Amino acid sequence: MHTLEDYREIVGDRIISTIQKKVRRLYGKHIIHINSTYTGGGVAEIMSSIVPLMNYIGIDAGWRILRGNPDFFTITKKFHNALQGGSIHFTEMKKKLYVQASQDFYVYTHINHDFVFIHDSQPLPLITFYKKRQPWIWRCHIDLSNPHEELWNFLKNFILRYDMVIFSSDTYKREDLPVEQKVIQPAIDPLSSKNMEISKKDISKYLKKFGIPTDKPLITQISRFDPWKDPQGVVEVFKLVKEKIDCRLVLCGSMAADDPEACLVNEKVKQMAQQLINNNDVILITSENNILVNALQRSSAVILQKSIREGFGLTVTEALWKGRPVVASNVGGIPLQIKDEENGFLVEPSDTKRFADRIIQILQNPNLAENMGENGKEIVRKNFLITRLLLDYLDLLKDIIR
Ligand code: UDP
Repeated sequence: MHTLEDYREIVGDRIISTIQKKVRRLYGKHIIHINSTYTGGGVAEIMSSIVPLMNYIGIDAGWRILRGNPDFFTITKKFHNALQGGSIHFTEMKKKLYVQASQDFYVYTHINHDFVFIHDSQPLPLITFYKKRQPWIWRCHIDLSNPHEELWNFLKNFILRYDMVIFSSDTYKREDLPVEQKVIQPAIDPLSSKNMEISKKDISKYLKKFGIPTDKPLITQISRFDPWKDPQGVVEVFKLVKEKIDCRLVLCGSMAADDPEACLVNEKVKQMAQQLINNNDVILITSENNILVNALQRSSAVILQKSIREGFGLTVTEALWKGRPVVASNVGGIPLQIKDEENGFLVEPSDTKRFADRIIQILQNPNLAENMGENGKEIVRKNFLITRLLLDYLDLLKDIIR
């Protein structure tokens, strides 16, 4: 657990003191955050840093998990896909099982907090079961610019009861939602085990432990095995790169508890890699290990993020923070972080050839890689560290009270 002052060296004294000033009117306020998984994915990542920091500065913050059975998570993953523009066979049974998990939560959890933050769509219906005595805020982490219409209409039954909706990007705001909407961009914790400085010795140790040789340049994508992260597309890109330069691909994706699709996608990627590339140069990793992610991001020649949709893309932030060149899709929250040719390359997600060309360009030009890396790190330092997120939360809470 870190103190706020531990961040001084990275963000400077002024930010630390501004946080202390802004929290004055919020001492002892009781906040509850609810989402549906402790591990895997960006929401859990942010919660594990922001909640302890809130507590450290004098707010009483808690984090609870909505439990669900496998059917619930199968349904909510379908909802997640459909909210990002996919299709869904929408039935009464799905609606019923979806709402049921919130009702079960209500039976054994009281909420008497000053503010309630609900993260993503899984726990949305909770609001219908509690007597509302405080502001409820829906924190939506995904790209909601093109949701499945019928599903969106159904979810609005719940969302309309909320006092505020927070998105990660201005472009996700919805004209058809008469609830106050704000934007807060996510952030990473530079002191977490995933992002802290680690020694070359530790990097080698972890790569060795997970069977990743470093005799060739590594190209890495760190993402859940989810069709929206397009791991199969990554293998296609890698095939083209490998025709020009000998290198290795690492696809690292831990299995999030609320993502039942992951095993299937992982299996498909494995088969595809065997068919297309036919040697040991594609490495798939499914273990959950923060230091391994850290080591991989630091030792890769290029980091890829070939998402088809991406709410924000903390993996991009993490890679930029480590001074690595990133080639990523020009979708969702990624262009908020990457300025094309300045701190990485942005490519349309369907343009496999351009993805490959950009990777080759970086591999052949170490100076370019270094410059991009330096620019990327500064962009993250200024905009996407957890202290800025904490400040945004304090401003938001003060606004709501007002
Ligand atoms: N992550 C991880 N191990 C993995 C894959 C992902 O720890 O094998 C982490 C990753 O480092 C990042 C988060 O999960 O912190 C993913 O967040 P992002 O916003 O990129 O995508 P999401 O999974 O929330 O769609």
